[in-house]
Amino acid sequence: MIASRRLLRRVAIGSRCPLARPAAGCVALSPSIRGLLAMVGLAFAASLAVNGSAPAQDAPAATDRREKIVLSDRAAALHRSLLLVDGHNDLPWEIRKRASRSFDNLDIALSQSDLQTDIPRLRQGGVGAQFWSVYVPGETMREGTALAQTLEQIEIVHQMLRRYPETFELALTADDIVRIRAAGKIASLIGVEGGHSIENSLNVLRQLHRLGARYMTLTHNVTLDWADAANDKAVHGGLSPFGEEVIREMNRLGMLVDLSHVSPDTMRHALRVTEAPVIYSHSSARGVADHPRNVPDDILPLLAQNGGVIMVNFYSSFVVPASAARDAEAARLRDRLKLELADDAAVEAAVQKWKRQNPAVPGTIHDVLDHIDHLILHAGPDHVGIGSDFDGVPMVPDQLEDVSTYPLITQGLLDRGHDETVIRKVMGENVLRVLRGAEAVAARNR
Ligand SMILES: [Zn+2]
Repeated sequence: MIASRRLLRRVAIGSRCPLARPAAGCVALSPSIRGLLAMVGLAFAASLAVNGSAPAQDAPAATDRREKIVLSDRAAALHRSLLLVDGHNDLPWEIRKRASRSFDNLDIALSQSDLQTDIPRLRQGGVGAQFWSVYVPGETMREGTALAQTLEQIEIVHQMLRRYPETFELALTADDIVRIRAAGKIASLIGVEGGHSIENSLNVLRQLHRLGARYMTLTHNVTLDWADAANDKAVHGGLSPFGEEVIREMNRLGMLVDLSHVSPDTMRHALRVTEAPVIYSHSSARGVADHPRNVPDDILPLLAQNGGVIMVNFYSSFVVPASAARDAEAARLRDRLKLELADDAAVEAAVQKWKRQNPAVPGTIHDVLDHIDHLILHAGPDHVGIGSDFDGVPMVPDQLEDVSTYPLITQGLLDRGHDETVIRKVMGENVLRVLRGAEAVAARNR
Protein backbone atom coordinates (compact mmCIF):
# COMPACT_ATOMS: atom_id res chain seq x y z
CA MET A 1 0.00 0.00 0.00
CA ILE A 2 2.71 2.44 -0.98
CA ALA A 3 0.29 4.82 -2.65
CA SER A 4 -2.08 4.92 0.30
CA ARG A 5 0.81 5.41 2.69
CA ARG A 6 2.01 8.38 0.67
CA LEU A 7 -1.49 9.84 0.67
CA LEU A 8 -1.90 9.36 4.39
CA ARG A 9 1.49 10.95 4.96
CA ARG A 10 0.36 13.99 3.02
CA VAL A 11 -2.75 14.15 5.20
CA ALA A 12 -0.56 13.94 8.28
CA ILE A 13 1.58 16.82 7.02
CA GLY A 14 -1.58 18.85 6.47
CA SER A 15 -2.65 18.13 10.01
CA ARG A 16 0.57 19.63 11.41
CA CYS A 17 -1.17 22.97 11.20
CA PRO A 18 -2.90 23.66 14.52
CA LEU A 19 -6.57 24.37 13.92
CA ALA A 20 -6.75 27.27 16.32
CA ARG A 21 -3.58 29.06 15.27
CA PRO A 22 -2.09 27.87 11.96
CA ALA A 23 1.67 28.35 12.03
CA ALA A 24 3.39 30.49 9.39
CA GLY A 25 3.75 28.65 6.11
CA CYS A 26 1.11 26.11 7.04
CA VAL A 27 -1.95 25.63 4.88
CA ALA A 28 -4.59 24.78 7.43
CA LEU A 29 -6.85 21.96 6.31
CA SER A 30 -10.28 21.86 7.89
CA PRO A 31 -10.97 18.67 9.83
CA SER A 32 -13.63 17.67 7.32
CA ILE A 33 -11.19 18.01 4.40
CA ARG A 34 -8.57 16.06 6.34
CA GLY A 35 -11.15 13.38 7.07
CA LEU A 36 -12.13 13.26 3.41
CA LEU A 37 -8.52 12.92 2.27
CA ALA A 38 -7.98 10.18 4.82
CA MET A 39 -11.08 8.39 3.58
CA VAL A 40 -9.92 8.56 -0.01
CA GLY A 41 -6.65 7.00 1.15
CA LEU A 42 -8.49 4.31 3.02
CA ALA A 43 -10.89 3.55 0.21
CA PHE A 44 -7.86 3.15 -2.06
CA ALA A 45 -6.17 0.98 0.53
CA ALA A 46 -9.35 -1.09 0.87
CA SER A 47 -9.61 -1.62 -2.87
CA LEU A 48 -5.99 -2.79 -2.96
CA ALA A 49 -6.68 -5.17 -0.09
CA VAL A 50 -9.77 -6.59 -1.79
CA ASN A 51 -7.83 -7.04 -5.02
CA GLY A 52 -5.23 -8.93 -3.07
CA SER A 53 -2.35 -6.85 -4.39
CA ALA A 54 -1.40 -5.31 -1.08
CA PRO A 55 0.54 -7.44 1.38
CA ALA A 56 -0.70 -7.10 4.96
CA GLN A 57 2.75 -6.15 6.29
CA ASP A 58 2.77 -3.14 3.97
CA ALA A 59 -0.07 -1.44 5.87
CA PRO A 60 -0.22 2.36 6.05
CA ALA A 61 1.82 3.84 8.86
CA ALA A 62 0.67 7.42 8.92
CA THR A 63 2.30 9.56 11.53
CA ASP A 64 1.26 12.87 12.96
CA ARG A 65 4.31 15.03 12.51
CA ARG A 66 3.26 17.78 14.85
CA GLU A 67 5.71 18.48 17.64
CA LYS A 68 5.73 16.34 20.75
CA ILE A 69 4.27 18.21 23.70
CA VAL A 70 6.77 19.10 26.41
CA LEU A 71 5.54 19.76 29.94
CA SER A 72 6.58 23.18 31.30
CA ASP A 73 6.76 24.20 34.96
CA ARG A 74 3.86 26.57 34.38
CA ALA A 75 1.60 23.83 32.98
CA ALA A 76 2.63 21.38 35.71
CA ALA A 77 1.77 23.95 38.40
CA LEU A 78 -1.53 24.83 36.73
CA HIS A 79 -2.39 21.15 36.42
CA ARG A 80 -1.62 20.52 40.11
CA SER A 81 -3.90 23.37 41.12
CA LEU A 82 -6.90 22.50 38.95
CA LEU A 83 -9.60 19.91 39.49
CA LEU A 84 -9.33 17.14 36.90
CA VAL A 85 -12.51 15.10 36.50
CA ASP A 86 -12.49 12.23 34.01
CA GLY A 87 -15.89 11.04 32.80
CA HIS A 88 -15.14 7.43 31.95
CA ASN A 89 -12.66 4.73 32.98
CA ASP A 90 -13.31 1.02 32.47
CA LEU A 91 -10.88 -0.35 35.07
CA PRO A 92 -13.67 -2.34 36.83
CA TRP A 93 -14.25 -4.38 33.66
CA GLU A 94 -10.51 -5.12 33.39
CA ILE A 95 -10.53 -6.29 37.03
CA ARG A 96 -13.43 -8.57 36.15
CA LYS A 97 -11.74 -9.99 33.06
CA ARG A 98 -8.12 -10.22 34.16
CA ALA A 99 -8.36 -10.72 37.89
CA SER A 100 -11.57 -12.69 38.56
CA ARG A 101 -13.16 -9.54 40.02
CA SER A 102 -10.60 -9.22 42.81
CA PHE A 103 -7.88 -6.70 43.58
CA ASP A 104 -6.19 -9.57 45.47
CA ASN A 105 -5.22 -10.87 42.04
CA LEU A 106 -4.26 -7.50 40.58
CA ASP A 107 -2.98 -4.91 43.01
CA ILE A 108 -3.34 -1.44 41.48
CA ALA A 109 -1.20 0.08 44.26
CA LEU A 110 1.64 -1.38 42.21
CA SER A 111 2.47 -0.33 38.69
CA GLN A 112 0.49 -2.51 36.24
CA SER A 113 1.95 -2.09 32.78
CA ASP A 114 -0.79 -4.21 31.14
CA LEU A 115 -3.36 -1.66 32.23
CA GLN A 116 -3.80 2.02 31.40
CA THR A 117 -4.73 2.72 35.04
CA ASP A 118 -3.04 2.16 38.40
CA ILE A 119 -2.65 4.26 41.53
CA PRO A 120 0.90 5.52 40.91
CA ARG A 121 -0.10 6.78 37.44
CA LEU A 122 -3.44 8.23 38.65
CA ARG A 123 -1.35 10.29 41.10
CA GLN A 124 1.12 11.30 38.40
CA GLY A 125 -1.78 12.37 36.18
CA GLY A 126 -3.23 14.54 38.93
CA VAL A 127 -6.67 12.91 38.75
CA GLY A 128 -9.03 14.65 41.18
CA ALA A 129 -12.21 12.75 40.43
CA GLN A 130 -13.01 9.73 38.30
CA PHE A 131 -16.31 8.30 37.11
CA TRP A 132 -15.68 4.54 37.21
CA SER A 133 -17.75 2.75 34.61
CA VAL A 134 -19.66 -0.34 35.74
CA TYR A 135 -20.10 -1.47 32.13
CA VAL A 136 -21.54 -4.83 31.20
CA PRO A 137 -22.05 -5.86 27.55
CA GLY A 138 -25.42 -5.32 25.87
CA GLU A 139 -25.59 -9.06 25.16
CA THR A 140 -26.18 -9.66 28.89
CA MET A 141 -29.68 -8.30 28.17
CA ARG A 142 -30.46 -11.34 26.01
CA GLU A 143 -28.96 -13.73 28.60
CA GLY A 144 -30.97 -12.09 31.39
CA THR A 145 -27.81 -11.37 33.42
CA ALA A 146 -27.48 -7.61 32.87
CA LEU A 147 -28.52 -6.55 36.35
CA ALA A 148 -26.58 -9.29 38.20
CA GLN A 149 -23.40 -8.43 36.32
CA THR A 150 -23.91 -4.70 36.87
CA LEU A 151 -24.25 -5.31 40.61
CA GLU A 152 -21.01 -7.31 40.50
CA GLN A 153 -19.29 -4.40 38.73
CA ILE A 154 -20.58 -1.93 41.33
CA GLU A 155 -19.22 -4.26 44.01
CA ILE A 156 -15.79 -4.15 42.32
CA VAL A 157 -15.77 -0.34 42.72
CA HIS A 158 -16.85 -0.59 46.37
CA GLN A 159 -14.16 -3.24 46.91
CA MET A 160 -11.59 -0.82 45.44
CA LEU A 161 -12.74 1.95 47.79
CA ARG A 162 -12.46 -0.38 50.80
CA ARG A 163 -9.07 -1.73 49.80
CA TYR A 164 -7.39 1.61 49.02
CA PRO A 165 -9.03 4.05 51.47
CA GLU A 166 -5.98 6.35 51.49
CA THR A 167 -6.44 6.88 47.72
CA PHE A 168 -10.15 6.64 46.88
CA GLU A 169 -13.38 7.77 48.47
CA LEU A 170 -16.92 7.40 47.14
CA ALA A 171 -18.36 10.70 45.91
CA LEU A 172 -22.13 11.05 45.64
CA THR A 173 -22.37 14.82 45.17
CA ALA A 174 -20.45 17.74 43.70
CA ASP A 175 -19.62 18.87 47.26
CA ASP A 176 -18.19 15.39 47.93
CA ILE A 177 -15.87 15.80 44.94
CA VAL A 178 -14.53 19.11 46.23
CA ARG A 179 -14.13 17.83 49.80
CA ILE A 180 -12.43 14.53 48.83
CA ARG A 181 -10.09 16.29 46.42
CA ALA A 182 -9.17 18.83 49.13
CA ALA A 183 -8.27 15.88 51.39
CA GLY A 184 -5.79 14.69 48.76
CA LYS A 185 -7.83 11.68 47.63
CA ILE A 186 -9.41 10.74 44.33
CA ALA A 187 -13.17 11.30 44.42
CA SER A 188 -14.72 8.16 42.95
CA LEU A 189 -18.08 8.21 41.23
CA ILE A 190 -19.98 5.35 39.65
CA GLY A 191 -21.36 5.49 36.11
CA VAL A 192 -23.67 2.80 34.70
CA GLU A 193 -22.83 2.22 31.02
CA GLY A 194 -25.97 1.16 29.22
CA GLY A 195 -29.67 1.28 30.08
CA HIS A 196 -29.87 -2.50 29.60
CA SER A 197 -28.59 -2.64 33.19
CA ILE A 198 -31.99 -1.54 34.57
CA GLU A 199 -33.84 -4.38 32.80
CA ASN A 200 -36.75 -2.06 31.93
CA SER A 201 -37.46 -1.26 35.57
CA LEU A 202 -37.54 2.19 37.16
CA ASN A 203 -37.27 0.52 40.56
CA VAL A 204 -33.96 -1.02 39.52
CA LEU A 205 -32.84 2.43 38.32
CA ARG A 206 -33.66 3.84 41.77
CA GLN A 207 -31.71 1.04 43.48
CA LEU A 208 -28.66 1.62 41.26
CA HIS A 209 -28.78 5.27 42.31
CA ARG A 210 -28.97 4.15 45.93
CA LEU A 211 -25.82 2.04 45.42
CA GLY A 212 -23.99 5.15 44.29
CA ALA A 213 -24.52 5.37 40.52
CA ARG A 214 -24.45 9.03 39.47
CA TYR A 215 -24.82 8.69 35.72
CA MET A 216 -26.33 6.21 33.35
CA THR A 217 -25.41 6.03 29.68
CA LEU A 218 -28.82 5.47 28.08
CA THR A 219 -27.53 2.72 25.77
CA HIS A 220 -24.31 0.91 25.00
CA ASN A 221 -23.93 -0.47 21.46
CA VAL A 222 -27.28 -2.28 21.42
CA THR A 223 -30.64 -0.61 20.77
CA LEU A 224 -32.97 -1.17 23.74
CA ASP A 225 -36.74 -1.54 24.05
CA TRP A 226 -36.76 2.17 24.86
CA ALA A 227 -33.75 3.89 23.20
CA ASP A 228 -31.81 3.74 19.93
CA ALA A 229 -28.04 3.20 20.03
CA ALA A 230 -25.52 4.87 17.69
CA ASN A 231 -24.05 1.56 16.52
CA ASP A 232 -27.29 -0.38 16.06
CA LYS A 233 -30.57 -0.18 14.15
CA ALA A 234 -32.82 2.73 15.08
CA VAL A 235 -36.31 1.48 15.86
CA HIS A 236 -37.81 4.25 18.01
CA GLY A 237 -36.67 7.37 16.19
CA GLY A 238 -35.00 8.25 19.53
CA LEU A 239 -36.77 7.28 22.76
CA SER A 240 -39.97 5.32 23.41
CA PRO A 241 -42.51 6.75 25.93
CA PHE A 242 -40.84 4.57 28.60
CA GLY A 243 -37.48 6.05 27.55
CA GLU A 244 -38.88 9.51 28.30
CA GLU A 245 -39.97 8.23 31.72
CA VAL A 246 -36.44 6.97 32.39
CA ILE A 247 -35.07 10.47 31.70
CA ARG A 248 -37.64 12.10 33.99
CA GLU A 249 -36.86 9.61 36.77
CA MET A 250 -33.12 10.23 36.38
CA ASN A 251 -33.82 13.98 36.68
CA ARG A 252 -35.86 13.34 39.80
CA LEU A 253 -33.07 11.22 41.34
CA GLY A 254 -30.27 13.61 40.39
CA MET A 255 -28.61 10.98 38.22
CA LEU A 256 -26.85 12.44 35.18
CA VAL A 257 -28.28 11.49 31.79
CA ASP A 258 -25.31 10.31 29.70
CA LEU A 259 -25.75 10.56 25.92
CA SER A 260 -22.55 8.78 24.86
CA HIS A 261 -23.32 5.73 22.66
CA VAL A 262 -26.85 6.83 21.68
CA SER A 263 -28.06 7.72 18.17
CA PRO A 264 -28.32 11.38 17.14
CA ASP A 265 -32.15 11.15 17.31
CA THR A 266 -31.92 9.81 20.87
CA MET A 267 -29.60 12.73 21.74
CA ARG A 268 -32.14 15.26 20.37
CA HIS A 269 -35.07 13.49 21.98
CA ALA A 270 -33.35 13.31 25.40
CA LEU A 271 -32.35 16.98 25.17
CA ARG A 272 -36.01 17.88 24.55
CA VAL A 273 -37.21 15.85 27.56
CA THR A 274 -34.56 16.46 30.22
CA GLU A 275 -34.94 19.23 32.74
CA ALA A 276 -31.38 18.78 34.05
CA PRO A 277 -28.14 19.38 32.16
CA VAL A 278 -26.76 16.20 30.54
CA ILE A 279 -23.31 14.78 29.92
CA TYR A 280 -21.53 12.85 27.26
CA SER A 281 -19.21 10.86 29.52
CA HIS A 282 -16.86 9.77 26.69
CA SER A 283 -17.62 11.13 23.20
CA SER A 284 -15.74 13.24 20.69
CA ALA A 285 -16.64 15.49 17.73
CA ARG A 286 -18.04 14.15 14.48
CA GLY A 287 -16.99 17.42 12.81
CA VAL A 288 -13.36 16.31 13.29
CA ALA A 289 -13.64 12.52 12.87
CA ASP A 290 -16.70 11.09 11.16
CA HIS A 291 -17.57 8.18 13.45
CA PRO A 292 -21.12 7.31 14.61
CA ARG A 293 -19.90 7.31 18.26
CA ASN A 294 -19.04 11.00 17.95
CA VAL A 295 -21.46 13.91 18.35
CA PRO A 296 -22.68 15.72 15.21
CA ASP A 297 -22.02 19.48 15.02
CA ASP A 298 -25.72 20.41 14.80
CA ILE A 299 -26.33 18.92 18.26
CA LEU A 300 -23.60 20.97 19.97
CA PRO A 301 -25.66 24.22 20.19
CA LEU A 302 -28.52 22.18 21.70
CA LEU A 303 -26.10 20.82 24.30
CA ALA A 304 -24.96 24.37 25.09
CA GLN A 305 -28.60 25.47 25.48
CA ASN A 306 -29.15 22.57 27.87
CA GLY A 307 -26.09 23.61 29.90
CA GLY A 308 -24.49 20.16 29.58
CA VAL A 309 -20.97 18.98 28.84
CA ILE A 310 -19.30 16.73 26.26
CA MET A 311 -16.29 14.93 27.73
CA VAL A 312 -13.78 14.06 25.01
CA ASN A 313 -12.92 10.40 24.38
CA PHE A 314 -9.28 9.50 23.59
CA TYR A 315 -9.86 6.28 21.58
CA SER A 316 -7.84 6.43 18.34
CA SER A 317 -10.73 5.02 16.27
CA PHE A 318 -12.96 7.89 17.42
CA VAL A 319 -10.49 10.78 17.36
CA VAL A 320 -8.13 10.17 14.42
CA PRO A 321 -9.97 10.96 11.15
CA ALA A 322 -8.26 8.15 9.20
CA SER A 323 -8.99 5.60 11.94
CA ALA A 324 -12.63 6.68 12.20
CA ALA A 325 -12.98 6.28 8.41
CA ARG A 326 -11.40 2.83 8.65
CA ASP A 327 -13.90 1.82 11.36
CA ALA A 328 -16.81 3.08 9.26
CA GLU A 329 -15.45 1.16 6.25
CA ALA A 330 -15.26 -2.03 8.35
CA ALA A 331 -18.89 -1.52 9.44
CA ARG A 332 -19.99 -1.12 5.79
CA LEU A 333 -18.05 -4.27 4.89
CA ARG A 334 -19.83 -6.15 7.71
CA ASP A 335 -23.25 -5.00 6.43
CA ARG A 336 -22.36 -6.07 2.86
CA LEU A 337 -21.05 -9.47 3.93
CA LYS A 338 -24.15 -10.12 6.04
CA LEU A 339 -26.16 -10.07 2.83
CA GLU A 340 -23.76 -12.47 1.12
CA LEU A 341 -22.81 -14.92 3.89
CA ALA A 342 -25.29 -16.84 6.02
CA ASP A 343 -22.86 -17.56 8.84
CA ASP A 344 -22.22 -14.76 11.39
CA ALA A 345 -18.88 -16.28 12.38
CA ALA A 346 -17.72 -16.20 8.75
CA VAL A 347 -18.75 -12.55 8.45
CA GLU A 348 -16.84 -11.66 11.62
CA ALA A 349 -13.75 -13.60 10.48
CA ALA A 350 -13.72 -11.73 7.16
CA VAL A 351 -14.15 -8.37 8.89
CA GLN A 352 -11.34 -9.14 11.34
CA LYS A 353 -9.09 -10.19 8.46
CA TRP A 354 -9.81 -6.89 6.69
CA LYS A 355 -9.06 -5.01 9.91
CA ARG A 356 -5.72 -6.76 10.27
CA GLN A 357 -4.88 -5.80 6.71
CA ASN A 358 -5.98 -2.22 7.35
CA PRO A 359 -4.76 -1.38 10.84
CA ALA A 360 -5.99 1.75 12.61
CA VAL A 361 -3.65 4.69 13.05
CA PRO A 362 -3.03 5.53 16.74
CA GLY A 363 -2.62 9.27 16.16
CA THR A 364 -1.23 11.65 18.74
CA ILE A 365 -2.37 13.90 21.56
CA HIS A 366 -2.82 16.63 18.93
CA ASP A 367 -5.79 14.69 17.50
CA VAL A 368 -7.52 14.87 20.89
CA LEU A 369 -6.65 18.57 21.22
CA ASP A 370 -8.22 19.11 17.78
CA HIS A 371 -11.49 17.70 19.18
CA ILE A 372 -11.31 19.91 22.26
CA ASP A 373 -10.69 23.00 20.08
CA HIS A 374 -13.55 22.08 17.76
CA LEU A 375 -15.96 21.54 20.65
CA ILE A 376 -14.93 24.79 22.35
CA LEU A 377 -15.64 26.53 19.04
CA HIS A 378 -19.05 24.89 18.41
CA ALA A 379 -20.43 24.24 21.94
CA GLY A 380 -18.48 26.87 23.90
CA PRO A 381 -15.81 26.63 26.61
CA ASP A 382 -18.46 25.96 29.28
CA HIS A 383 -19.55 22.71 27.65
CA VAL A 384 -16.38 20.66 27.11
CA GLY A 385 -14.72 18.13 29.40
CA ILE A 386 -12.46 15.07 29.54
CA GLY A 387 -13.71 11.45 29.29
CA SER A 388 -10.70 9.33 28.38
CA ASP A 389 -12.24 5.82 28.18
CA PHE A 390 -8.95 4.47 29.56
CA ASP A 391 -8.93 0.70 30.03
CA GLY A 392 -11.96 0.49 27.77
CA VAL A 393 -10.12 0.95 24.48
CA PRO A 394 -7.37 -1.03 22.75
CA MET A 395 -5.57 1.88 21.08
CA VAL A 396 -4.81 5.38 22.31
CA PRO A 397 -2.86 8.25 20.76
CA ASP A 398 0.83 8.88 21.28
CA GLN A 399 1.43 10.89 24.49
CA LEU A 400 -1.96 9.81 25.87
CA GLU A 401 -1.00 6.25 26.70
CA ASP A 402 -2.38 6.10 30.23
CA VAL A 403 -3.75 8.04 33.20
CA SER A 404 -0.38 9.65 33.90
CA THR A 405 -0.57 11.79 30.77
CA TYR A 406 -3.33 14.32 31.62
CA PRO A 407 -0.84 17.14 32.41
CA LEU A 408 0.13 17.09 28.73
CA ILE A 409 -3.45 18.08 27.85
CA THR A 410 -3.15 21.08 30.14
CA GLN A 411 0.14 21.89 28.39
CA GLY A 412 -1.37 21.36 24.93
CA LEU A 413 -4.26 23.70 25.70
CA LEU A 414 -1.83 26.36 26.97
CA ASP A 415 0.26 25.90 23.81
CA ARG A 416 -2.86 26.51 21.73
CA GLY A 417 -3.46 29.81 23.45
CA HIS A 418 -6.33 28.94 25.81
CA ASP A 419 -6.38 30.93 29.00
CA GLU A 420 -6.21 29.29 32.39
CA THR A 421 -9.90 29.91 33.15
CA VAL A 422 -10.94 27.92 30.09
CA ILE A 423 -8.48 25.13 30.90
CA ARG A 424 -9.83 24.80 34.45
CA LYS A 425 -13.36 24.56 33.09
CA VAL A 426 -12.53 21.91 30.49
CA MET A 427 -10.46 19.80 32.87
CA GLY A 428 -13.20 19.53 35.49
CA GLU A 429 -15.13 22.63 36.53
CA ASN A 430 -17.71 22.23 33.75
CA VAL A 431 -18.80 18.75 34.76
CA LEU A 432 -18.83 19.80 38.41
CA ARG A 433 -21.27 22.58 37.45
CA VAL A 434 -23.42 20.09 35.52
CA LEU A 435 -23.57 17.75 38.52
CA ARG A 436 -24.64 20.67 40.72
CA GLY A 437 -27.29 21.54 38.11
CA ALA A 438 -28.67 17.99 38.17
CA GLU A 439 -28.69 18.07 41.98
CA ALA A 440 -30.68 21.33 41.93
CA VAL A 441 -33.27 19.82 39.57
CA ALA A 442 -33.57 16.75 41.83
CA ALA A 443 -34.03 18.98 44.89
CA ARG A 444 -36.82 20.88 43.11
CA ASN A 445 -38.60 17.63 42.18
CA ARG A 446 -38.39 15.95 45.52
ZN1 LIG B 1 -18.27 3.21 26.04
